[in-house]
Amino acid sequence: MRWIEWALAGAVLAALPAAAQQPPAAPANRFVVVLDAAHGGTDSGGTLASGQLEKTAALTLSVRLRSLLTARSIAVVTTREFDTTLDPDRRAAIANHANAQLCLSLHISESGSGIHLFVSSLAPAQSKLFMPWKTAQAAWITRSLALAGALNATLLHAGLNVTLGRTSLPGLDSMTCPAVAVELAPERARDGTVTAEPDDATYQAKAAAALAAAVLEFRSEPRQP
Ligand SMILES: [Zn+2]
Repeated sequence: MRWIEWALAGAVLAALPAAAQQPPAAPANRFVVVLDAAHGGTDSGGTLASGQLEKTAALTLSVRLRSLLTARSIAVVTTREFDTTLDPDRRAAIANHANAQLCLSLHISESGSGIHLFVSSLAPAQSKLFMPWKTAQAAWITRSLALAGALNATLLHAGLNVTLGRTSLPGLDSMTCPAVAVELAPERARDGTVTAEPDDATYQAKAAAALAAAVLEFRSEPRQP
């Protein structure tokens, strides 16, 4: 008599203390970082001087950074682990679902030099209970600029050249956390000669170490109300 078994199971569950039926709450101080390796799948991004596709180099940087952050006990959620196609809305949905404290969207470029940091060009807006999806980042612009500032300071300290910018970024514009697009470009001498390609392992490791240090720095900053 299956229905009796179900009824009994229900009675046992009902007899348990309420707390035992609920999943344990996540620790309040859990610091979650979302790493978003840009492009992937049918979207290759740019092509680097070595012939490597941007989508591949971006994933390599994401893996490097993830291992540095997890080694420092920071929880990392990635938007992709493989060569998969992801639309911007899906990337934002992953970041928002993870309740991230920050998101770094990782790009690799053959043009420019050093590291380019981009914050959404949305005008800052008050946070509301329901933010429009396409412009949800507006409530986080101030914190995103603070994150870009922390990244800028740490990257400069590590001897990397940094360029800051604002632009419309479909995925980032929908994220409800401090979010910055990080684009790794070649390291260049003063005359513009490339001294390290953006898929060079040593250069990527140096950039990833500086980015990880910046995340730690940002985590220790007092939160704004
Ligand atoms: Zn890109």
